[in-house]
Amino acid sequence: MTASLITDARVVEVLRSTFGYTSFRPLQAEIVASILNGQDVFVLMPTGGGKSLCYQLPALLLDRLTVVVSPLIALMKDQVDKLRAAGVAATYINSSLDADEIGRRQGAVARGEVKLLYVAPERLLLPGFLHLLSSAGVAFFAIDEAHCISEWGHDFRPEYREIKRLRGLFPSAILGTFTATATRRVQADIKTHLGLQNAVAFCGSFNRPNLYYEVRPKQEAYEQLAAYLRGRGQASGIIYCQSRAGTERLASRLQKDGFSATAYHAGLASNERRQRQEAFVKDDVQIIVATIAFGMGIDKPDVRFVVHFDLPKTLEGYYQESGRAGRDGEPSDCIMFYSYADAAKHRHFIDEKPSENERQIALWQLQQVINWATGTTCRRSALIGYFDEQPRQQPDPCCDVCRTPLQEEDYTIPAQMLLSCVKRTGERFGIMHLIDVLRGSRGERVRRYGHDKLSTYGIGRDRSKEEWRFLANELLRRGHISQDGDEFKTVKVTELGRAVLFKGEKVILAKAPAIPSHPVEPDTPHQVLFDRLRTLRKRMADERGVPPYVIFHDATLRQMAAELPTSRQHLLRLYGVGQRKALDFGDAFLAHIEQYVRETGAQPESLPISSNQQQGSLSSTVRATLDIFNTGRSVVEVAAARKLAVSTIEGHLAEAMEAGETVSLDRLVSDDKRRAIEAAMAEHGTALLKPIMESLGDGYTYAELRFVRAKIERSRSS
Ligand code: ADP
Repeated sequence: MTASLITDARVVEVLRSTFGYTSFRPLQAEIVASILNGQDVFVLMPTGGGKSLCYQLPALLLDRLTVVVSPLIALMKDQVDKLRAAGVAATYINSSLDADEIGRRQGAVARGEVKLLYVAPERLLLPGFLHLLSSAGVAFFAIDEAHCISEWGHDFRPEYREIKRLRGLFPSAILGTFTATATRRVQADIKTHLGLQNAVAFCGSFNRPNLYYEVRPKQEAYEQLAAYLRGRGQASGIIYCQSRAGTERLASRLQKDGFSATAYHAGLASNERRQRQEAFVKDDVQIIVATIAFGMGIDKPDVRFVVHFDLPKTLEGYYQESGRAGRDGEPSDCIMFYSYADAAKHRHFIDEKPSENERQIALWQLQQVINWATGTTCRRSALIGYFDEQPRQQPDPCCDVCRTPLQEEDYTIPAQMLLSCVKRTGERFGIMHLIDVLRGSRGERVRRYGHDKLSTYGIGRDRSKEEWRFLANELLRRGHISQDGDEFKTVKVTELGRAVLFKGEKVILAKAPAIPSHPVEPDTPHQVLFDRLRTLRKRMADERGVPPYVIFHDATLRQMAAELPTSRQHLLRLYGVGQRKALDFGDAFLAHIEQYVRETGAQPESLPISSNQQQGSLSSTVRATLDIFNTGRSVVEVAAARKLAVSTIEGHLAEAMEAGETVSLDRLVSDDKRRAIEAAMAEHGTALLKPIMESLGDGYTYAELRFVRAKIERSRSS
């Protein structure tokens, strides 16, 4: 097979020149190599892990056609748009096209003009289509969303079962399956149904390091939400609600309060749905308030927050939906509002399911969500633990629990007081009244009902109103009490509450101070320019009828705003800029940058990383530092000799390395640290140091990062 002749260098060259990336994300290189070696692959990688590249890159190097099977028609267009913007001969054939257009595209496939063809499973196996594929010759079938083959997954599609026929029809083609969620059972199903027993399996981590998880009690939820949104500026986000009516209600309330929001659910006409989805993807609308009908097949990379306004039904679903945040790897929030009432609502619907088996599965799934939401351990660890992955904590952004370590306290006795007070007042009063009774209020209402005669009257004097309210909220959240939805919100003791009251079950609560919302905006130097570049991107995207991120990602624009590039050559060094994009879009962006520099006299904020900068360009002070350092003295000694701060000396040395000077890295960074930094850079790229610093945690300096980065850049360019 010709594939085996393809060298690593060629692969890296395509990664660079077509996709504009400097390095692979974890597992990508190995997956691409296996495919190019003619091996079948089974790939399990979380959302945002970079699955598409794993089949797109080999497609460009294989000598015949690559067929991507996907159930998601909306996604096909999006992926093809992105590929074409990068100069790749990609196309899709699906029911959204008319017969003439389908004929034209099939002609192109037959003539061998297409490298990557996207198609839905039901079309794939039509006799005429199979005929087209055999005459064109298929090198590789990539089956996306492969979990659809399993009834145990969250999105079973019977058509997927038919795909196994490909094996017999195209015996020499490589087969690869790709999915972002699969429990063990689903993985086994995929392998069996597609005859992938000999495939090389790659299982990426479910950990999404750039996502921050937070659960909030669902009280005054709208006010909490609005305050959060006000802090998020122009950022795009999704808010999931349980019901169609819920999405409409919330969207219109947000609109009234001046937010750019729209509702989305399966009850809307299909053209209406398409329009709203497009408005969101194209940044014409900032917030989409949706049922879970929204999201499959949308891979907008810059969704900065996903809020679950109502409780999701399964943790697997939650992982999927919340995972739509931050595909581009930048910090993003996943916020869930939790209330016992929501859980009770779900239980009610589960009770109505006809089959006992279904009921049990659904109840178990719901319990996992409740456990997660009310848990007092790291949410990230708990979430990935659900997928059998080793728990891990990590530096910020992690989760609300890790940010504000909770203090556990035994609340059994006060909980019993409150529960018994609920009982003794006949389960007919609201929380505030109960607190008044417990605290021995002399209020008129307490006396009118004779509640000052109860045995629970005044037994809770030693705790503040706030503390009682906290306890009541927690009991509500954990389901020990329930609240009627009516105006006065009367409280009742539930089955769980009775266990505390009569069977001595303990109530251990974790107290946390109120959490301010998490600031996640990355630093943007030259914000004004960044905004202008965004506007330019939006205009160019609209002219081409594509979403803005097809032109460039936010990260790329942020880098432009920092480095103020003046040439196409420089643009090519930026994240996500390949040959084609530099050619098609480069000049327009350069012109804006130039104008900004002319107007403001702005300077680049971080040095462009360049290995071919001239040696002569070092300033005299940097040169002086370097000369002393090269005589064998330590950084501290150089600092003392020059009467400068250690950090200044480090800055000089980093600058020297970036300018291509030879400086011994071993003398500056320990081996262990160097390895950790390299690993973080392999994951986050080298463009921005802040995310790397954040992923490493305490104990590192920016200078150390710059040293290692300079070394990496140097070895790359040689
Ligand atoms: P998935 O399909 O696994 O959810 P995608 O294929 O959509 O993920 O990739 C997620 C994001 O990561 C995309 O925005 C893509 O441009 C980016 N990406 C993929 N591979 C790389 C890489 N090697 N370097 C930098 N960015 C990458």
